[in-house]
Amino acid sequence: MAHTVCHPDAVVDLHVHTSVSDGSDLPASVVDIAADAGLSIIAVTDHDTTTGLKEAETRGVQRGISVIRGIELSADYLGHSVHILGLGIGEPDHLFDAMIQKVLDGRKERNPKIIRSLNEIGYQITLNEAAAIADGDILSRPHIAAAMLQRGYVSSIEEAFKRFLNRGRPAYHERYRPSVMEATEAIHRLGGLALPAHPGLMRFDHRHDDLLYHFTRFKEMGIDGIETFYPTHSETFRQTLSGIARKLDLLESGGSDFHGRFKPNLPGIGIDGMPIRCSDIAPLLERLGFTVSAQNKKGSKP
Ligand code: AMP
Ligand code: MN
Ligand code: MN
Ligand code: MN
Repeated sequence: MAHTVCHPDAVVDLHVHTSVSDGSDLPASVVDIAADAGLSIIAVTDHDTTTGLKEAETRGVQRGISVIRGIELSADYLGHSVHILGLGIGEPDHLFDAMIQKVLDGRKERNPKIIRSLNEIGYQITLNEAAAIADGDILSRPHIAAAMLQRGYVSSIEEAFKRFLNRGRPAYHERYRPSVMEATEAIHRLGGLALPAHPGLMRFDHRHDDLLYHFTRFKEMGIDGIETFYPTHSETFRQTLSGIARKLDLLESGGSDFHGRFKPNLPGIGIDGMPIRCSDIAPLLERLGFTVSAQNKKGSKP
């Protein structure tokens, strides 16, 4: 890491994607974007892969910005997909690789089914077109959406999800997911912290008591925290989640879920207008090896 002291006011973003999963920018470019925006720390959290981390870490050293090694795993909870962030993970071991391979196989099985369903309802897109857009190791729904956009079948990626790709729509297909407990254990084995991402996007009720119930279950499954700071969380919702984190002794994290042009509706890295500061998530950063302190200028926002 470039530095381990973080000024309380320094801006951080612990949830960003690169082109090795469904972001549009190369790992090094994402680090450049973050460094140019004056951030001190980012976590690279690509879906189901760690292949972009080395490149991001190397650029982080060059640019003087700390890059936390992360991942975002789609896990199963009561038949729903819950995304588990792993932060501060070491090099994958063979058990981790085996789990990832199962996920990748699941994607490979699912992608042709999605294309076939689209073909059946009259949209002549091919797997190759989507693969060309993905141009990496993970081919996911945003790439299929981008292929539909390229053909003019939809006018935005969002529209492709709403009409065809979301659960309940005609081209939706399930894929293999490890359980929340399996995903959490895998992250812990690599020395990382596991946190359910963006609770605001979870499909269960968002009332306090329901959230408390589900996060109590997640805690029993081993999770360490909650991603409380997220662009689509209202301040009230964020405070509800913070209260639950305090009650259950869970760490708080936050990030923008940056995907570049593949998710243009989300704000950019560092969350424009609502930056997350080191002081907002200090206990988590300390667990990841940082010292949050105003004493040292290193790590403060330039
Ligand atoms: P997959 O991993 O192939 O199931 O695709 C899921 C990914 O699609 C998620 O990680 C999101 O980043 C992305 N996604 C979901 N809904 C949308 C949307 N409405 N617009 C753009 N991207 C989306
Ligand atoms: Mn994504
Ligand atoms: Mn997610
Ligand atoms: Mn994400």
